[in-house]
Amino acid sequence: MAAPDGLRAGTSNVYLLRAAGGGCVLVDAGLPASGGAVLRGLARRGLTPGDVRLIVLTHVHFDHVGGLAAIRRATGAPVMVHAAEADRLAGGQTVMPPGTAVYGQVVSRMGRVAVRVGLIRFDAVRPDVIVTGGESLAAYGLEAAIVHTPGHTAGSITILLPDGAAVNGDLAVNQFPFGLGPIFPPFAEDVPALYRSWRRLLDAGVTRLYPGHGAPFPASRLREVAFRNNHSLIH
Ligand SMILES: [Zn+2]
Ligand SMILES: [Zn+2]
Repeated sequence: MAAPDGLRAGTSNVYLLRAAGGGCVLVDAGLPASGGAVLRGLARRGLTPGDVRLIVLTHVHFDHVGGLAAIRRATGAPVMVHAAEADRLAGGQTVMPPGTAVYGQVVSRMGRVAVRVGLIRFDAVRPDVIVTGGESLAAYGLEAAIVHTPGHTAGSITILLPDGAAVNGDLAVNQFPFGLGPIFPPFAEDVPALYRSWRRLLDAGVTRLYPGHGAPFPASRLREVAFRNNHSLIH
């Protein structure tokens, strides 16, 4: 199976997963106005919009669903999202999660203002497939499973591939705008849940993470970062 193919969509990653029998599955849809860049990325790989069989959303934040309305219009592909964030997507609700440290707290506060005045927004999209975790993507030509990995948001999901690769959204990141430190996300709704989700991925045999921001990295980094943060990932 080919490794997840990252398309840059602003500072966010959109991943392209090749499906058996042709076509592909997209994970996430990038920042607002990045729909065109994603479609051009498809074309560069010899794919047409009609080749997209599914769009999976790791979570509903504007930097992951901003390009969705345009991509969905062009591809007609069904949109898959976790049940906890389906209403947020359908309602076009932009939320800023709390910061996990000073940087995130400051940005989160500024972000809330930007949301209030409409500077940060995305076009609402009605989801087609609602998941809760445990689903297979076999129907879309992909040997992959959806795992519910809350923490960054309540409805965050990770796409698990059989070779140990995982496309994990913002559950862990490897870069953030303004050069902030890697791996531990600057924003999270529920930090203890986030650590439990890290452990769930390690227990599931994940070896390599493909984050929503930055380059792929080995899953062992999760254990290192948790240890550095005085968290053993055992409980
Ligand atoms: Zn996010
Ligand atoms: Zn993000």
